[in-house]
Amino acid sequence: MGVADGWVELGDRVFVRRYAFYDQNIGVILGRGEALVIDTRSSYRQAREILDDLRSLTGDPVTVVVDTHGHFDHAFGNAVFRPASIWGHERCVPFMERTGETRKPKIAAETPELAGELDEVVIDPPDRTFSDVATVEVGGREVELRYLGRGHTDHDIVITASGTAVVFAGDLLENGAVPFYSDGYPLDWPATADALAELVGDGIVVPGHGDPAGRAFATTQADSIAAVADLGRRVHAGEISLDDAVAAHPFPGFPPEDARGPLVRALAQVRVEVS
Ligand SMILES: [Zn+2]
Repeated sequence: MGVADGWVELGDRVFVRRYAFYDQNIGVILGRGEALVIDTRSSYRQAREILDDLRSLTGDPVTVVVDTHGHFDHAFGNAVFRPASIWGHERCVPFMERTGETRKPKIAAETPELAGELDEVVIDPPDRTFSDVATVEVGGREVELRYLGRGHTDHDIVITASGTAVVFAGDLLENGAVPFYSDGYPLDWPATADALAELVGDGIVVPGHGDPAGRAFATTQADSIAAVADLGRRVHAGEISLDDAVAAHPFPGFPPEDARGPLVRALAQVRVEVS
């Protein structure tokens, strides 16, 4: 593992860089003469910052971008990387078309420092899509893209460079925060998180936000995600109240109240599934 000017090499020519804004991880996989970037941040300015920072790693062009999912902090910088191919899950495209422009006012209200940067953002969804698995070539090396099931959204994908033990997990996992459930599928997420932990094996997982970690972290968070689904079902069944479920505190180390949003979302999905 090596460090080059803020980039940390987690595997053979597989790098991550931590940005203070949203404590976000951006991935880079270098091939011969080409680079692949994982996620593009929240604005053109932030995306250009990635390109500037890349100069300390390589002079080669970014020919491939992969969006782990379509949330603004992962995909609003896409257009800056054109004419690169942009890869994502097939449902990433309609998600961005449906939510990208319409959520700008809410994003600006919640994150004032971005407000002046959102107007110029043209929603530019992936042009290369897949449903379950895809292999992308970048400068003579292969990169695997996998959809493991619904979770943080209905289109999260995970990325590994062949022959390395590094898994980029997007927001299917978050280290240092409770996972974000607002667009999530709480009842599906446990199986997806289990599959992710399995894929991590003895390797390294890079969450969308927070410290890279190992399988133990992935398994612990998968257990918390499973607990949310279970508590949601129990609230729906009338066994416990929502407040009791919050108090049961499925995310150790965080305030119980942080679990309320996830539990409300879980309850909503149970209601949809039984109706
Ligand atoms: Zn997200």
